Amino acid sequence: MKTKPLFIVMSAPSGCGKSTLIDMLLQEYHDIVYSISCTTRAPRGEEEDGLDYHFLSKERFEELLKEDAFLEYAKVHDNYYGTLKAPIVEVLAEGNTMILDIDVQGAAKVREYVRSLPNTDPLKIGYVDIFINPPSLEELRERLERRGTDSLEVIEKRMRNAEGEIARAGEYMFQVTNDDLAICYKRLCDLIDALSGRM
Ligand code: 5GP
Repeated sequence: MKTKPLFIVMSAPSGCGKSTLIDMLLQEYHDIVYSISCTTRAPRGEEEDGLDYHFLSKERFEELLKEDAFLEYAKVHDNYYGTLKAPIVEVLAEGNTMILDIDVQGAAKVREYVRSLPNTDPLKIGYVDIFINPPSLEELRERLERRGTDSLEVIEKRMRNAEGEIARAGEYMFQVTNDDLAICYKRLCDLIDALSGRM
């Protein structure tokens, strides 16, 4: 079945299950491709080049910046992070869908870029942004505590970030609440199916 290629931008506060939801989508939808960011930071642990990130030197990143190769980028703690335009253009041209996992600030930059494109551009035609909400801030705190990977201090920081991000959820075209993983995933699939013309 031929479907409309989408350019999906997804954001969620940390602990909302966004990575799990994206993994589930990638397993089920073989025409969805995950956008791999570029970074100048060093790989951590088991991270692999071309899988987790494209790990670039600062010089190479700055060269690409000059060539206007990035759809958006940010400098975080002295390291650059950015999303290349070319892979997205290619994936959509092949009739597939690209999914981008990015924070609220990055998503705002992507949105601004897409708005500046002509209405006939495939990135603009396929553009959709989705915000994943936690059921409540209390539930999010409980999840972060249960996860047991963060110190109290880090949890407090994540909670402050989450509040700031949730305050901007209205900027997104769609919001899906992750109160129950299976139900949230089903809502997400229904949304993607409807937007891509799978049903
Ligand atoms: P980390 O170094 O822990 O993998 O990521 C640090 C921060 O960089 C996170 O907040 C992450 O969301 C952000 N980040 C990762 N990739 C990109 C990207 O392509 N663009 C932007 N603007 N931020 C990114």
